Amino acid sequence: MSRTRQPSRLATRLVKGGATAPAAGGRAVNPALVRASTVLFDTMDDLNDARRRRGTERLFTYGARGNPTGFALEDVVTGLEGGYRTRLFPTGLAAISMVFLAYARPGDHVMVADCVYQPLRHFVDTFLRPWGVEVSYFRADGSDAARHITARTKLVYAECPGSLVYEMCDLPALAELAHRHGALLVADNTWGSGVLYRPLMLGADVSVMAATKYLSGHSDVMMGTVTTTRDAWQPLATMADAQGVAVSPDDAWLVLRGTRTLAARLELHERHALEIAHWLAAQPAVARVLCPALPSHPGHALWRRDCHGTNGLLSFEFAHASPAAAAQFVDALELFGIGASWGGFESLALVVGVAGTRTCEDWGAAGPIVRLHIGLEDPRDLVDDLGRAFEGVSGG
Ligand SMILES: *Cc1c(COP(=O)(O)O)cnc(C)c1O
Repeated sequence: MSRTRQPSRLATRLVKGGATAPAAGGRAVNPALVRASTVLFDTMDDLNDARRRRGTERLFTYGARGNPTGFALEDVVTGLEGGYRTRLFPTGLAAISMVFLAYARPGDHVMVADCVYQPLRHFVDTFLRPWGVEVSYFRADGSDAARHITARTKLVYAECPGSLVYEMCDLPALAELAHRHGALLVADNTWGSGVLYRPLMLGADVSVMAATKYLSGHSDVMMGTVTTTRDAWQPLATMADAQGVAVSPDDAWLVLRGTRTLAARLELHERHALEIAHWLAAQPAVARVLCPALPSHPGHALWRRDCHGTNGLLSFEFAHASPAAAAQFVDALELFGIGASWGGFESLALVVGVAGTRTCEDWGAAGPIVRLHIGLEDPRDLVDDLGRAFEGVSGG
């Protein structure tokens, strides 16, 4: 019988992961939603034994230390990332900040890629630098990383592809550089969501995802995940326990539900986004379309080497339009929502100020840039909507 055989391919793991325990009778398809603060033990010995072991083992001992619903999601994410273990955090940003708290101390040096999710820069300015950690930004493609690294560097933090314009870096080369200097390589893997990109397989020690995006997939829940190799695990687990950071089991249950369809949704997001990218590239109002799956993107060769597809994100630069005209274009869209975040089933549009989010690269001379998230609507309707909005801009 093959009933207990471990399924190996990604889409299968997403469907089969986070197995359920049998009840009297049969067992449910989905893990139970366990809401708990207090956890009961049969004897004082059992309680004390669990307390002794919970720092290094995953045990259900108290609500703040994780619970079975969250554990099921952790297992699915660990399988996606190909790591040792996973911890859940209330937001993607909380997951990122915990990584710095776990691995850096005052007096240490850390390196952060120029293309990171913008609120990380705010964390650097308001907490990390005042706390005494020295922070250097390096170019999004990693080309100047060797010039920044020192004997005090504890962490190299990459995001690949980068936020807003999707710069690619050579992650295996960054891993080699970091490890040669005794530093850890961390990657924000929200873009790839463990399906399209797998940093731990490319040499990173720690991978962070905003599960708020594609893992959840429905724009109705916030969550962050951190998955590490076995060697990198303990500082993260210890710091997360020390700070009492936990997620609601209801939220974990929702994200787990989202992961079941993650691979299928991403295939559709990719197909729709590529259709729209090619249509946009042919529009006279568009100077260039930014998406690493397009041969015109500077990171395309690395994307081909390291990624397993693209998602619903693409940005484009207007050829001749004022920022006000770009805003007018977005306002004129009827099927695209105007809002931050992405990874849900719906299409979104936003004018993004890339220049203000980069300090190594000068984007000041670029035309206005619109970031689109292409959802699961019929792409023909989205093209009609975009076409109407372009007419408004050229006419006005
Ligand atoms: C959205 C996002 C985050 C933060 O996730 P939240 O759950 O919104 O805090 C982190 N990194 C990237 C690349 C993101 O796009």
